[in-house]
Amino acid sequence: MAIERTFSIIKPDATARNLTGAVNAMIEKAGLRIVAQKRIRMSRAEAETFYAVHRERPFFGELVEFMISAPVVVQVLEGDNAVAKYREVMGATDPAKAEEGTIRKVHARSIGENTVHGSDAPETAVMEIAQFFSGNEIVG
Ligand code: ATP
Ligand code: MG
Repeated sequence: MAIERTFSIIKPDATARNLTGAVNAMIEKAGLRIVAQKRIRMSRAEAETFYAVHRERPFFGELVEFMISAPVVVQVLEGDNAVAKYREVMGATDPAKAEEGTIRKVHARSIGENTVHGSDAPETAVMEIAQFFSGNEIVG
């Protein structure tokens, strides 16, 4: 299997509850390597750009307000089949529908405050990584 990279965000509900380390432990236990990581406060413009694909959805405003409400931790994860593997580790968008043992099942509070983001395809991962990291910040 090809070594791949995916983009991850530990969202405001998790940083507010001091869960960065707990989430990272689940990521690493799944065999993904954290090859870049920084804690930032996302600007409104950054959040709107990042979630532009959802601009027409009824929850867009709420989603942007949530993402700028507290710090987030942006990350690059690396490993075999990293995009699909991280989606598995995260669990379904709605924690009520997520599998046992997934990050969202264990930690998420609701479909909106769902603890983590992960890229949905390798092409999206490339774009999302480029929005937040320059090449020399990623050390595999
Ligand atoms: P993400 O893109 O954050 O990894 P996802 O790919 O599982 O999550 P998307 O459909 O891309 O889910 O939705 C993006 C984000 O928008 C969700 O993670 C969630 O925070 C928020 N969201 C999605 N659906 C709803 C909803 N019905 N109500 C409120 N927020 C929602
Ligand atoms: Mg998504």
